[in-house]
Amino acid sequence: MNTIFLDRDGVINQNPPNWGYVRTWEEFDFIPNAQKAIRDLTENGYRVIVVTNQAGIGRGLFSEENLTDIHSRMVAEITDTGGSIDSIYYCPHHPDAGCKCRKPKPGMLTRAAAEHRIELSRAYLIGDSTTDIEAGQRAGVSTILVLTGHGKKSYQHYTQATLFQQSGTDAIGSRRRRTADEGLALSSRYRPEKIFTNLYAATCWLIKNDT
Ligand SMILES: [Mg+2]
Ligand SMILES: [Zn+2]
Repeated sequence: MNTIFLDRDGVINQNPPNWGYVRTWEEFDFIPNAQKAIRDLTENGYRVIVVTNQAGIGRGLFSEENLTDIHSRMVAEITDTGGSIDSIYYCPHHPDAGCKCRKPKPGMLTRAAAEHRIELSRAYLIGDSTTDIEAGQRAGVSTILVLTGHGKKSYQHYTQATLFQQSGTDAIGSRRRRTADEGLALSSRYRPEKIFTNLYAATCWLIKNDT
């Protein structure tokens, strides 16, 4: 059984505006066809595992109980449409806490692999942020960027990195050169293998092409 790791916000559900957090079920809004995508993965024998940073807990914006409630309702809706979520890993820590689980660190993926005996080299991670792609690659899974959520911004990041690699300079100009170089160097080390418009498009490709 092959495994698909899914980021949550920006992949399964819409990101609240201004890099906000989903604090209650009322703020949870499925991305069109996301449930259908998970159903298709389930029907094609994939194990689906969610890996999500939820620093809003560490920031005191919502509680672990709020998150558990959101996740049980999310799973119930996905189950109703014929999909299945095997397990959900989340990082509740503040970004400054220095934990091992917050993406771009690969901690949630390596823990899931140990607990579910996942062959990481065959697994995929689907995410909308550069931090998802980095975490996936550090764990040794194949990575797919989707253009929902923060995906368009992430895509721009990789495009700039490509321009930089090709020309030896960046499009931003010399004044911001150093910061841009650092960011671009990082994003060119970790790049998604595939890019799709949304989760449904990514899963259609996977089901057809993953052997
Ligand atoms: Mg995301
Ligand atoms: Zn953590």
